[in-house]
Amino acid sequence: MPETLLHVDLGAIAANYAILQAAAGGQELAGVLKADAYGLGAAAVAPVLWRAGCRTYFTAKLDEGMAVRAILPEAVVYVLEGVAAAEIETFLVNELRPVLNQPGELELWAAAAGRAGQKLPAALQLETGMCRMGLTSSDLDAVRQKWLAAIDLALVMSHLACADEPAHPQNASQLACFAALAARLPKAPRSLANSSGIFLGRTFATDLARPGAALYGINPTPGRPNPMRPVVKLTAPVLRVLRLDGPAAVGYGATHPVSSGARIATIGIGYADGLPRAAGGAAKASIQGRAVPLIGRVSMDLTTVDVSGLDEVGIGTPVELFGPECDLDAVAAAAGTIGYEILTRLGSRFRRVYTGQHVQKRQDAA
Ligand SMILES: *Cc1c(COP(=O)(O)O)cnc(C)c1O
Repeated sequence: MPETLLHVDLGAIAANYAILQAAAGGQELAGVLKADAYGLGAAAVAPVLWRAGCRTYFTAKLDEGMAVRAILPEAVVYVLEGVAAAEIETFLVNELRPVLNQPGELELWAAAAGRAGQKLPAALQLETGMCRMGLTSSDLDAVRQKWLAAIDLALVMSHLACADEPAHPQNASQLACFAALAARLPKAPRSLANSSGIFLGRTFATDLARPGAALYGINPTPGRPNPMRPVVKLTAPVLRVLRLDGPAAVGYGATHPVSSGARIATIGIGYADGLPRAAGGAAKASIQGRAVPLIGRVSMDLTTVDVSGLDEVGIGTPVELFGPECDLDAVAAAAGTIGYEILTRLGSRFRRVYTGQHVQKRQDAA
């Protein structure tokens, strides 16, 4: 029986890195690898980005940062979540940099620098409108007076709340707020844009953009054509084909009535694999380029699609849940969510298969 597989095109990730770099006007890009590189596998993705020229990485958690450090010994690795007292040794031993989001973290990092007898590198996050992480305007005076001297200010950053809506007025207000707050700090490289922010224009790219989703093929410009190459393809095999010889209703709750003669294929993937339950009755999958609607409810391990009129479908036929034939963003929208959530919730019951990895051999001059 063919397996359920998540195909990851590493060549497309490298191509997307280049597309984003051009869109950012050649400014530096950092690769965002949080949540195991959005579910694709940081161990496979990180070396591809490194070979593409990426030298700076962001993770959310300290453990994720340690995993990237183990793969890329020379990379600059930031941990977005910040630092707690019990974690300082781990940050130092692994040469990880915290993103300092609140005064207490600056106090901890400055104290650690005092003990180490040297300035310690970190990023400072500024609160500019997201109301989530970051130092506020009223924090900045204390930050400057008490702790900044002990910190090697490697990056000043903030995060956009509405970058996927180019007409939203908060984009311009966050940009202005970021400039005003950053001007009160010593000169340091600045970082503001995520994937969508890169497409808001050159002023948003600043010194270092931080794309995640677009590297992995998610459309950073919703409502407009996707400038990124597709990276992921999820396929599950048909386990059974049923031809109905009378009217019936499909699945739990008998929610989807079907008439006599309908052909229903049951495929080996369900919500336990991360296929949203809300995709049932709403999203379409694809078989050899032909759309097949998900009918009835998605079960834990099984999903049913209508293959009436597709006589060639049989046991083992692979069904694409999303991929080049079946746009991830469209599947996500049909299920009432976003591609980010689908990728990061993919389960561990199927294999990830990596293709398109071209390891460049160094040509040493004679
Ligand atoms: C997740 C995240 C990013 C990357 O966002 P994408 O929309 O996936 O490009 C960048 N910066 C911060 C602070 C984040 O949390």
